[in-house]
Amino acid sequence: MPYLFDHFDSVRELLSLAPFGLFTDIDGTISVIAPSSAEARVSPVCRESLSVLAKHLAVVVGVSGRPAAEARKMVGIDEMVYIGNHGYERWVGGGVELVPGVGDYPARIKAVLDELRKLISIEGMIFENKGLTASIHYRRCRDREAALKAIMSAVGGLARAGDLRVSMGKMAVELRPPLEVSKGTAVFSLIREHRLSGAIYLGDDLTDVDVFVAFHQRGLPFKGLAIGVVGEETVPQVTRQADFTVNGVGDVEQFLKRLVVEVVGRPAS
Ligand SMILES: [Mg+2]
Repeated sequence: MPYLFDHFDSVRELLSLAPFGLFTDIDGTISVIAPSSAEARVSPVCRESLSVLAKHLAVVVGVSGRPAAEARKMVGIDEMVYIGNHGYERWVGGGVELVPGVGDYPARIKAVLDELRKLISIEGMIFENKGLTASIHYRRCRDREAALKAIMSAVGGLARAGDLRVSMGKMAVELRPPLEVSKGTAVFSLIREHRLSGAIYLGDDLTDVDVFVAFHQRGLPFKGLAIGVVGEETVPQVTRQADFTVNGVGDVEQFLKRLVVEVVGRPAS
């Protein structure tokens, strides 16, 4: 897909629509991927721009696979809304709301993770329980291919037994309830609630492609622009389904700075 900065007029045109919303994935988009998720930090340049934009746009949203409260803590801007756990929850004005129909899935997630911990013992593997979803990270394993194989052979039957879905993330296997919930459904709920006419979504991973694809449906009452953040680990779907691409968090910093100038009329600082 074309490089965003060669087509900035499209962004300018879109920004004339109001109300306007900005949605951004967190890890890999405004925060460089770190060896463990606990070590990841949001780029201060991105934070500065987002905090200005949050005061001027109809809504600015951080979207993450992390729990919503953790996403809020990581970004640190109270004026933003945070969609967490790939769409299963959100943080708004100090409280966390779950999607309806969650039932006893947190207990099932925990049970499957406990079982997996017993079955797989590979150095570097991290089992992360996020409440409504879980991630099994193999980034730190010496032989990642073998680690992924071990996870996949152990997880299939357990997930079926617990009625959970298995999906792939960046160097991680994700477990989640089988509800029709994704970053896409959560983003669209907010678009409807805020009656947005225009929106931008920034993301770097497969779960973000759900939003990209949803933006491109026919007959929507709003116009959405999907920006793919590409790097060494980018899956082809991100590049294929994005309207435009940028290269890594460094380009996102530049993009958000330009957005501030467009929206506010002057730089953030
Ligand atoms: Mg990401």
